[in-house]
Amino acid sequence: MTEAEQHQDRIEEARRIFAGPIAFLKSAPALKFLPDASVPEVAFAGRSNVGKSSLINALTGRNALARTSNTPGRTQELNFFDVGNPLRFRLVDMPGYGYAKAPKDMLKQWRFLVNDYLRGRPVLKRTHVLIDCRHGLKDVDATLLDMLDEAAVSYRIVLTKADKVKASALAEVTERTAQAVRKRPAAHPEIIATSSEKGMGLPELRAAVIDALD
Ligand code: GDP
Repeated sequence: MTEAEQHQDRIEEARRIFAGPIAFLKSAPALKFLPDASVPEVAFAGRSNVGKSSLINALTGRNALARTSNTPGRTQELNFFDVGNPLRFRLVDMPGYGYAKAPKDMLKQWRFLVNDYLRGRPVLKRTHVLIDCRHGLKDVDATLLDMLDEAAVSYRIVLTKADKVKASALAEVTERTAQAVRKRPAAHPEIIATSSEKGMGLPELRAAVIDALD
């Protein structure tokens, strides 16, 4: 099999998995509510409004699997989704951060929950950190990247809303972001640009999620 054929096989296998059964399992507002660590997990994180719910819905081809959670003051929780029947792995929707008007202790609560989860979850294979391609990496994102590096949890940057910028601007933000994570120990060097609206990058991201399970 040539490399191109292998790539196509991976894309097709990932497409099939994401087209199969996926169901919401539970929300965990604290560690004691986490499901059993019986299967691998792959997480998605990002600032409120980055397009995380839209991306999870687009990846799974479901309209309302992940709900928007950027309402200030809303309980912060980790949401778990079972993928495959029999269960193959779990998608984890991490609480959004960086909401401008969020009260201080909400940020504290976010930090505790996310840090505890990252540090105590060997089944967590990779976190996808979503970055709006119009804004690039911000200080609040760097806080999460620091936590991931310190917890030694592998992560990968995924640019969102790629349909909102020109190809030249997208190339520029991709390069700038890749440069910024190059020295970070737990960062995957390749960045995936996506658009939930236009479907761009979704087959590659599905394949990247499946790759993270090995
Ligand atoms: P979340 O808070 O991170 O879950 O963000 P949402 O998924 O709710 O998206 C926030 C806003 O961005 C909504 O108005 C979406 O319609 C919009 N949005 C999300 N993804 C895309 C995209 O790929 N392209 C465009 N143009 N808009 C998007």
